[in-house]
Amino acid sequence: MTTSPTPSTETPPRERPPSVDSLARSLADSGLPHAVLVEVARAAIADGAIAEAPDAAIARKRRMLTPVINGTGVLLHTNLGRAPLSHEQSATYTNLELSLVDGKRGSRQAAVGELIATAAGAEAAIVVNNCAGAVLLVLAALATGRGVAVSRGELVEIGGGFRVPDVMAQSGAQLVEVGTTNRTRLADFRKAEADHDLALAMHIHQSNYRIIGFTEAVSIQALASLDTTVVADIGSGLLDRSCPWLDGPPPRWLDNEPAARQTLQDGADLVLFSGDKLLGGPQAGIIAGSADLVAACGRHPLARALRPGGLVLGALQQTVLAYLRRDGDAIPFWRMASQPLEVLRHRAQTIVASCSAAGGDASHPGTVAVEVIDTEAVPGGGTLPGVGFPSIGLAIAGNHLDALRLRSRPIVGRLVGEPSATIIDVRTVDPDDDQELLAAIRGLRR
Ligand SMILES: *Cc1c(COP(=O)(O)O)cnc(C)c1O
Repeated sequence: MTTSPTPSTETPPRERPPSVDSLARSLADSGLPHAVLVEVARAAIADGAIAEAPDAAIARKRRMLTPVINGTGVLLHTNLGRAPLSHEQSATYTNLELSLVDGKRGSRQAAVGELIATAAGAEAAIVVNNCAGAVLLVLAALATGRGVAVSRGELVEIGGGFRVPDVMAQSGAQLVEVGTTNRTRLADFRKAEADHDLALAMHIHQSNYRIIGFTEAVSIQALASLDTTVVADIGSGLLDRSCPWLDGPPPRWLDNEPAARQTLQDGADLVLFSGDKLLGGPQAGIIAGSADLVAACGRHPLARALRPGGLVLGALQQTVLAYLRRDGDAIPFWRMASQPLEVLRHRAQTIVASCSAAGGDASHPGTVAVEVIDTEAVPGGGTLPGVGFPSIGLAIAGNHLDALRLRSRPIVGRLVGEPSATIIDVRTVDPDDDQELLAAIRGLRR
């Protein structure tokens, strides 16, 4: 016992803190494993914040990965994992590196690589972890110790500190800067070809920025007239400009977006793109084009370090098969992107009507006012800067971002205007989540 026999006016008797183990057990409702709760309990006791331990457990749980309802209207939201994707695979072996034809060791790249090649109109393709990895591998395999010509208008940071000149240095290739920031001509590339030992001329798509005004850039067709191998990093992963997997014509917002098939047709020897942008698949990087060049990339030691796992290849195969079936509806990104405005409006109106039926309008104290508004959705994911397309949202009076995000099924929206309104764009919300969204809005208080 720590209490002294003579009562003291200075130090009141202190309750003995609970044991770490018993506090951790009392937090079991959080659903976190005991070992994690022990850490939470230990920290709470050390900080003398035992009463706050349940909140700390909830906060700890929020750091785990969990499904999120995307109400931002940004279809490929980098913070929300870019393209939404479902993939099923039971606990089973696969023929990942076994040729079922002759029973010999096969390549994990063969199955999906061939399908991607067919879908993109390429001779061959291989898959790595992401497009940044694809750029690194291509430079290391095809240009180490030699020059790579890049227009000064394309020496960019693509995001997350991925800077073209830095990647070039890491790969051992020598950057040969060509032209100027706003204007680069074929003659600039010709001069680079004459002055340097060029391995590649590289075209990098202006995914996340635009140079406007007095500008000039060299097309893939023009680059193809060089003697040098042409590599195009298109990033976005649009497979085919004509979008044969959609019922209607290609959407207008894709007007200036390069596509893998057409970039190869225009004369690029290799095209590089992401798996989880406009392709709508898992995180991956794809190198497609001339069979010799793809094989050289596959033989480089970095290919082993950058190779994707069987789960990713399985998910990518499902995605590519949907393209080959021309079934855009089977690809969540395209399903969301091509939902007609009337369908979105009807979903939003249904939610608002149900809210009003429950007293959800300004004339009922305590409940929030909700209305249907026109919005603009954007592709996102560092693709198509400045491009938006019509969408429909729910405008909830007031700032409810925290309340919505802190739900057990988090909803992420955005804030606009003065006085502020919370916008939930329904284009990026799966229709199966409309009921959850309705329940969340009903639960909001002014
Ligand atoms: C997005 C992008 C990348 C990076 O792709 P990740 O798959 O995220 O590594 C590279 N190049 C371009 C042009 C891009 O748009």
